[in-house]
Amino acid sequence: MRTTCPIQQSISAEPYQSAPATLFGYTPNVHEILRGLRCHEFVAYVQPKFELESNAVHSVEVLARWEHPQRGLLAPAAFIPLMAFETLLLDELLCDLLDQGLACQTELHSQGRTLGFSFNLSMLQLANDALIGRLIGRLGEHTLPLSLVTLEVTEDAPSVASAVCFQNVSRLRRLGVRMSLDDYGTGYSSLLRLCQLPFDELKLASQVTWHSIENRPYRSVIGNTVALAQELRMQLVVEGIETEGQRVWLKQMGVQLGQGYLHSRPMAADSFAEWLRANPYAIATRSSFNS
Ligand code: C2E
Ligand code: MG
Ligand code: MG
Repeated sequence: MRTTCPIQQSISAEPYQSAPATLFGYTPNVHEILRGLRCHEFVAYVQPKFELESNAVHSVEVLARWEHPQRGLLAPAAFIPLMAFETLLLDELLCDLLDQGLACQTELHSQGRTLGFSFNLSMLQLANDALIGRLIGRLGEHTLPLSLVTLEVTEDAPSVASAVCFQNVSRLRRLGVRMSLDDYGTGYSSLLRLCQLPFDELKLASQVTWHSIENRPYRSVIGNTVALAQELRMQLVVEGIETEGQRVWLKQMGVQLGQGYLHSRPMAADSFAEWLRANPYAIATRSSFNS
């Protein structure tokens, strides 16, 4: 069941007039987003993380989509940048997707498929004590072990990993929740961040994957990231795997887990159970969970 996350009525459209335009020719305003949230138009899509060796589904990442009544299905690029201007909106989205994702996870478990689920959380959200308290409350109601829940920290702003962030990561990890550093190697998702906060998973950014085979510097980055993850005892997931050549090459480099269009595109959480049934290689395995 979805929890009710109160949205402040007082949010004004004024500060958002300079928000970045999207590449899609449509820039929603804050009131449209609020309406969409209240009408539950934001839906959870899921994309599997898979084992490179066997193609088996290892776990899934929950990704936001907006089923806009006039504009059709919108990807995060159309609304996350505006939401990042007002983190209350992002918080509301996270609560909504958490409810949808955990419900899907529970339902799959009842069908005999136990899979880890990941959710995206920005650095700014990680610094918000009240939000983290709310998440912990919701996670406390979950009937599955919290080691099956991962929070992927996305770097949308040059925010400093403050003592508050560190404390909140520690609070979550004490409950068993896994922490992941998303888009590693780009923007502020850096070696420094890796030193500042304790993570269980490292997600190497797609931009590295796309050039990895033919380009020596990218190959070196992959090789060194594999070694780094092993050294730090972190699970490495390589994002953006689009070709069989990339899968085979990454496997040879020692990468065990990946995510990308080669295996599957994001799909509606509602249709995921059906997709699992239709795909014989999508065998859920629990053996590789490290906690
Ligand atoms: P991300 O967390 O790094 O998610 C992976 C993105 O890469 C997804 O884009 C996914 O569809 C895309 N992707 C996966 N495999 C491939 C591939 O093989 N090729 C290509 N070209 N792309 C691939 P999506 O769904 O558009 O999401 C973009 C970003 O928006 C996410 O990147 C994440 O940072 C953010 N985002 C998505 N949902 C949420 C959310 O609920 N909350 C927050 N705060 N951010 C979210
Ligand atoms: Mg992510
Ligand atoms: Mg990513």
